[in-house]
Amino acid sequence: MKQIFIVIIAIFSLVSCNKTEEIKEEKAVKRIPKKSEFGFVYADFNVIHDTIQKGDTFGTLLEQQNIGDRQVYDIIAKVKDSFDVRTIRINKPFTMLRSKNKKKDLQVFIYQPDNLSYYVVDFRDTAVSVYKKTKPITIKRRTIGGVLKESLSETLGNAKIEVALASKITKIYAYSIDFMKLKKGDRYAITFTERFINDTVYDGVEELEASFFEYKGKIIYAFPFAQNSGKIEYYDEQGKTLKNFFLKSPIKFSRISSRFSSSRFHPVQHRWKAHKGTDYAAPRGTPITVTAGGVVEQSGFTAGNGNFVKVKHNGTYSTQYLHMSKILVRRGQRVNQGQVIGLVGSTGLATGPHVCYRFWKNGKQVDALRLKLPTGEPMTGNNKSRFLEKITPLKFQLDSVANL
Ligand SMILES: [Zn+2]
Repeated sequence: MKQIFIVIIAIFSLVSCNKTEEIKEEKAVKRIPKKSEFGFVYADFNVIHDTIQKGDTFGTLLEQQNIGDRQVYDIIAKVKDSFDVRTIRINKPFTMLRSKNKKKDLQVFIYQPDNLSYYVVDFRDTAVSVYKKTKPITIKRRTIGGVLKESLSETLGNAKIEVALASKITKIYAYSIDFMKLKKGDRYAITFTERFINDTVYDGVEELEASFFEYKGKIIYAFPFAQNSGKIEYYDEQGKTLKNFFLKSPIKFSRISSRFSSSRFHPVQHRWKAHKGTDYAAPRGTPITVTAGGVVEQSGFTAGNGNFVKVKHNGTYSTQYLHMSKILVRRGQRVNQGQVIGLVGSTGLATGPHVCYRFWKNGKQVDALRLKLPTGEPMTGNNKSRFLEKITPLKFQLDSVANL
């Protein structure tokens, strides 16, 4: 069921950017008091709207409308193939349309098991007709954005958006944004679709189509995309997965010269001892990047480690980088994933230039190469051109609503 949308072009002030801007691509939602519903004109009837109460049955409801036992029994038998009256539930709405004359005879009974469908039992014919109908759903797209003035959930609430979208967004960005640390004045934009029943009744968010948040001065986009597996994952504007807590290694181009082991012959000390790290050999001066965002916990020199940096990523994980020729961060500093924190060297106990990469999980040193860490599906083959083509208009819309 496709609907032709009337595109309303919203006009934006180019200077004001501290306001939540909004592009509505569909016709405005009409809010007219209901004159008719379920295919009936209310003015033609005496109308009762109510909900099923504890103890109510279809039978007792009919009896309250002066329909006799015998007749009720016949009606239930007659409708049972299309409407099993035993399925009516407490708190579900029903409507009774009665004659406008003095007798107020029950003419139509309508029961709504959910937001989307309803049963109609029409008593006006002696035959009693019954049918089920499903309300049409309209999907509308919206883009909001601008500058954050409050928390994400407050922002969504004020824009009359289902707040559940906030937790979805928080999950998508779990590896790149700490939403508690978004600041007032950070820019953002979100494009999403919403469901409307009968074109007017809000039924919640259908899908997140695109978003970006400014975080520590960086714009981080998220676009859902399904590769060959069909599973939807989220990627940034370059097609990089957002679900990578740790980079694979602290050096871009390098070779592993020594793996984590409980016993190896130490090349300098010339004795057998545990090697609780992974060594990556690289030329002196090669940039060392922190494998995940976090806070520098230690930064200094020891005889064994040489110049080293230790970064705490969260309550579970920490990583350490040894033998640097130069340290580029200080203790207490916050670092982003991929940030250069030092340069490769051979300070401390080292035979040649390399970085010894150490990994802690819950305070225990573990082999980073063997850990099963959460990771997204990388973009492969010709998926990337398909992805870039898909996101171009979405990104343009995000950027324009937030005046990027
Ligand atoms: Zn090592």
